[in-house]
Formats: sequence, C-alpha cells, structure tokens
Amino acid sequence: MKHVIIGNGVAGLTAAETIRRMDPDSELTLISDETFLPYCRPMISHLLEGAVPAEKLPIRGKNVYAQNRIEPVLGARATTLDVDRRVVTTADGKTHAYDRLLLACGADPRQIDAQGRDLENIFFMRTVQQVRQMLAVLPEVGHALVLGGGLVGFKAAYSLLRRGIAVTMLIRSGYPLSMQVDETAGRMIQAVLQANGLTVRTGASVEAFEGNGRVRMAHLSDGTRVSCDMAVIGKGVFPAHGFVPADRIHTDAGILVDDNMQTSVSGVYAAGDIAEHMDIARQRSWVNAIWPEAVSQGRVAGMNMAGEIVSYRGSLSRNVIRVFDTDVMTAGRVSPRDIDETCRQFSARDLRRNIYRKLVFSDNILVGFAMINDIEQGGALTALIQSRRPVEVEPERLMEPGFNIGRLMAR
Ligand SMILES: Cc1cc2nc3c(=O)[nH]c(=O)nc-3n(C[C@H](O)[C@H](O)[C@H](O)COP(=O)(O)OP(=O)(O)OC[C@H]3O[C@@H](n4cnc5c(N)ncnc54)[C@H](O)[C@@H]3O)c2cc1C
Repeated sequence: MKHVIIGNGVAGLTAAETIRRMDPDSELTLISDETFLPYCRPMISHLLEGAVPAEKLPIRGKNVYAQNRIEPVLGARATTLDVDRRVVTTADGKTHAYDRLLLACGADPRQIDAQGRDLENIFFMRTVQQVRQMLAVLPEVGHALVLGGGLVGFKAAYSLLRRGIAVTMLIRSGYPLSMQVDETAGRMIQAVLQANGLTVRTGASVEAFEGNGRVRMAHLSDGTRVSCDMAVIGKGVFPAHGFVPADRIHTDAGILVDDNMQTSVSGVYAAGDIAEHMDIARQRSWVNAIWPEAVSQGRVAGMNMAGEIVSYRGSLSRNVIRVFDTDVMTAGRVSPRDIDETCRQFSARDLRRNIYRKLVFSDNILVGFAMINDIEQGGALTALIQSRRPVEVEPERLMEPGFNIGRLMAR
C-alpha cells in the first residue's frame, strides 16, 4: 500500500504518524512546499511578538521523518492531481503515484486588490518564513497597518503592539474578532487594544499603497491616508484546494468529506483547514480552521487510510485568547452572523470587574458562548456544546458564578 500525504502541517503529520503506527509496512510519502520541520502555526504570532524563539516552534524533532519511515518531499508544491491514474504532480514536474491520498494542504491567505501591493514590507502572516521576513524589517518599523480584524489580523496587531510599534487596524465589520464574538465582547476587546496604543479605523479599505520600493503610505477608500512602514494583510484565508479537480472532488468552501474524512473520490481523503465536515453547533457543513480539529481530523483520516474504519464526530470552532491582561474564550455560535430565530441569548456584564458572559441556545441546546475575564467554566461549556445534551436548568443559572456546569454532564 502506498500512502501520499500533501501538507506537513499538523493534520498531515498526525495522519502520517497514525498510519505508520497502524501499518508498519506501507510506503509513506509526505509532500509539502514548506521546508521547515512541522511547527506550531498558531505560535508564529508569538515569534513576531518576541515571546518565543524560532527554535520553540517545531512540534517534532529533526528525526521525525526517519523515525516514521516517511519519505519527505519538501519545497515541492503539488500542482496537479489525476484521480483516475492516482498520481500527484509537483511544480518541478515529478510525479508521485498513490493508492491512498490525503489532502492536508491547509489554507492560503486571501489576497487583496490594491495598487502598490508588491511594495516591500507588505506581508501575510501564515508561515514561519513570512514572520522571519517581518522580524528582519522590524527595526525600521515605527508604524504598522493591519488590514482585517479577524484572528490573524488581531494576532498580528497584538504582537506588534507588544513590540512597542504603533498599529492602525482597518476593520470592515466595526469591531475586532467579529467572527468569534458578539458586539459587546468585541468592543471590550477593542477597548483593551486601544488602551494599549491601537488605532482602529472602520468602514474603509486600502485602495493603494505608496512608497519608494518600500511601503510608506496607504490610501484608503474614504479618501484619507495612513502612514506606515509595514502592512500585514489579514483578510481571511481560503482552503488551498486550487489544484484539485473540482469536477471529481466535491467542494463547498472546503473539500467536502464524509465521516471517515474521505472525499467524493474513493481513496482520497482530506483533513485540517482544507476540509469541510459537520459543524456541531451549526449542524451544517462548515470549515472550522483551528488547530485541535486539524489534529483530530488528521488522526481519523490516518486511521481510515490504514484500514480501520472510524468516524469523526464533527467540529466546533473555539478559541482562547489573551489580550494584554484580559482573557477571552469563545466557542460555537456567538457572532451575530451565526444567530437565527431559533436562538435564545443570555448575557451578563460586570462592569466593575470587566467580566462578560454570553450563552447562546438553540431551543434548549447550548450552541455557543463567549466569556471575558471569567473563563474557568469554558472547558465544561465546550463539552456541553459538543455533547448536544438538552440543558434542563434555567439558562440564567449557568451564568451564576460558581455554578457547576460539569454536573450537567454527569446527569
Ligand atoms: C497566525 C495564526 C494564528 C492562529 N492561531 C490559532 C489559535 O490560536 N488557535 C487555533 O486553534 N488555531 C489557530 N490558527 C489556525 C491553525 O494554525 C490551523 O488550524 C492549523 O495549523 C491547520 O493545520 P493544517 O495541517 O490543516 O494546515 P497547515 O498548518 O496550513 O499545513 C498545510 C501545509 O501544506 C502546505 N501546502 C499547501 N498547499 C500545498 C500544495 N499544493 N503542495 C504542497 N504543499 C502544500 C502548506 O504550505 C503547509 O505547510 C492560527 C493560524 C495562524 C496563521
């Protein structure tokens, strides 16, 4: 049996290790365009911040490929997939035949259409290499512009503020992290960032960058300008399935997979940020591009590829974020765009202690929460959403400090 995996992120690596554990004799090839050892992608913002050195990023030692008898094909981008001949071709023209294939290619940052986009010091923040390039120019940066207030834009802005760099953030939606939290929580996060030097501009986008080789200025759609020595584009990502034959492998936003992480083509699997499966809170097909789901999906894909039929239970969006001295935890449906007429929302705010709690129910099933500065119950609430157990106590009681949410699971 010959397994080929495209992508050496955490989904691809987890699948490779799982296959090797279950099937010592198969051939295993791992193709990736990144050459760095598999690393903790969420930590690249800590590298930008200066909180961790680059040596701390790899999630496995340098012998990972030899120990698992994986043939690494690194620095190679897969450009064509022929599902009839079962062959992957990389940009250098080499071909890789497979019996079972895993697509674990993650996601690519969304490009923007602005004049002067090619100037130096305009970055994405998806790879360790991009952050290294940012670090190389930081000594000459006094003011950075961050485009987008989503998770990546937020993390870039936060890291640069922690470095003492003045940051302007352009947000289309009105407040940061609008995909993760509601407006009250978003405004609380924004207030913390502003108190620490962030300038927020809403309702405007960049039409053009100006500079002499390097970016010096951004011209915005509202006719104003922002001086900047650096810009970070955080306008979202899209699953990296551009080379996959869409007439054979069915896609929505991501590659659609069944409970065994298999695509519409037998023998071809997908896992991680590229894959789309059932979202537990939304009860519909969704791409939840987060680290723990990439690990789970990689493991389930690897087991099925090795011949043991197991099912994935579905994914749940969730995040724990520290914003200076403020803790934020969210899961499931909290953003206004995820709320519909079936939802019942409960919230409580303690202004003196800067605490906020928000719970969202669909009928009597918990489908989302956001917590600021009181996140101890977050693990139990996450488990409650994942369980889809009907909640039989008054929702307000769940928000009482000290209420033992874990006991609901034991009933
Ligand atoms: C700045 C940042 C902060 C984040 N913070 C968090 C967080 O706080 N919490 C959280 O849960 N998640 C976070 N995430 C998301 C998390 O990192 C991802 O969900 C996770 O890394 C996905 O793993 P993956 O293996 O699916 O994809 P990836 O890690 O993207 O790995 C895919 C690999 O495949 C390669 N590849 C792509 N296309 C091809 C091709 N055609 N040929 C060959 N190779 C290819 C890519 O270069 C990459 O090396 C963050 C992400 C970023 C960028």
